[in-house]
Amino acid sequence: MVQDFFREDLSDFESYSAGRTDYKVRLNANESFSNLDFETRKEIGKVIENSIYNRYPDPEALEVCALYAKYANVKNINVMAGNGSDECIQIIAHTFLNTGDKVAMQSPDFSMYGLYTKVAGGIPIEFPLGPALELDVKGFINMANSEKVKIVFLSNPDNPTGNIIKREDIIKIIEECKCIVVIDEAYFEFYGESILDKIDFYENLIVLRTCSKIGLAAIRLGFMITNNVLMSELKKVKPPYNVNSITQSIACIILKRPEIIYNNVKNIIAERVYLWEKLSNIDGIKLYKAKANFILVEVSNALEIKEKLLKQSINVRCYTSGKLVNCLRITIGSREENNCLLKNII
Ligand code: PMP
Repeated sequence: MVQDFFREDLSDFESYSAGRTDYKVRLNANESFSNLDFETRKEIGKVIENSIYNRYPDPEALEVCALYAKYANVKNINVMAGNGSDECIQIIAHTFLNTGDKVAMQSPDFSMYGLYTKVAGGIPIEFPLGPALELDVKGFINMANSEKVKIVFLSNPDNPTGNIIKREDIIKIIEECKCIVVIDEAYFEFYGESILDKIDFYENLIVLRTCSKIGLAAIRLGFMITNNVLMSELKKVKPPYNVNSITQSIACIILKRPEIIYNNVKNIIAERVYLWEKLSNIDGIKLYKAKANFILVEVSNALEIKEKLLKQSINVRCYTSGKLVNCLRITIGSREENNCLLKNII
């Protein structure tokens, strides 16, 4: 039987399902609500017309990495591009994990840390967040060291809670955990604080970034930023040509004009303020800190609300079990989308 060749440890795995994407109001995937403007899209059209399709892309996406380095204020050689930061997470897991190695993460956090750990043969160790969805930093460090984990993954701000870990605590984690520490700054732009300035200072620090939240989810582009020693190790595992030519060309156009990103982020933050204020005036909704491009809310009947919203073609992320039972994660939409949500959420 062909099944005899399958991996036993993947037998209870379910493939990731992103669900339907044809809802009118899509507030479930933490994307940016606005598309690139028409002029920029026209410019991209010309680039696509003139692209070289018979040749492989630049295997190291050097121009993109250089432009991102400028955007992030780091050195070019410290940046590696990936097919989304998802791929960066996978590369990290495959670079450092042997079968049976442990990886620490807070729970809840981004599900791909656990998934790629398992795919690489590792064992995810989840550390539950406290009652206010805060991280007990000391407890986390103790757990990571006593379990002898090889990697720590933490998103900051955290998806899905929106909570943040303060800079001094991040530093404590990097200094005291005896392992590779990955700080995933996918939502950095909506928070404003980064640990990137420390990549050359700590031998065990890797920072992740993505273009998906700032208006470019379609092109699949993420970055890994770290010191030279870790970078050479990660390069052994990076697939060649992992970022396609079209993505590289589009990213170069946008990164040469970072004001496109700044404007987009400014608009999303303004809508976050608006949505937060309106939601906080509704009885029966508890809001958690919102430092990313979404707001986590707790209600008494999340599933009922989710179904009611779906009937109006509004999609939000709903949690029905665990720590986030009865929570909804609502991505910040345009004013029109936010008003549509507000009208239907009560
Ligand atoms: N990290 C976090 C914390 C995320 O929330 C996401 C997207 N949901 C990613 C990484 C993956 O981003 P990308 O689209 O770059 O693969």
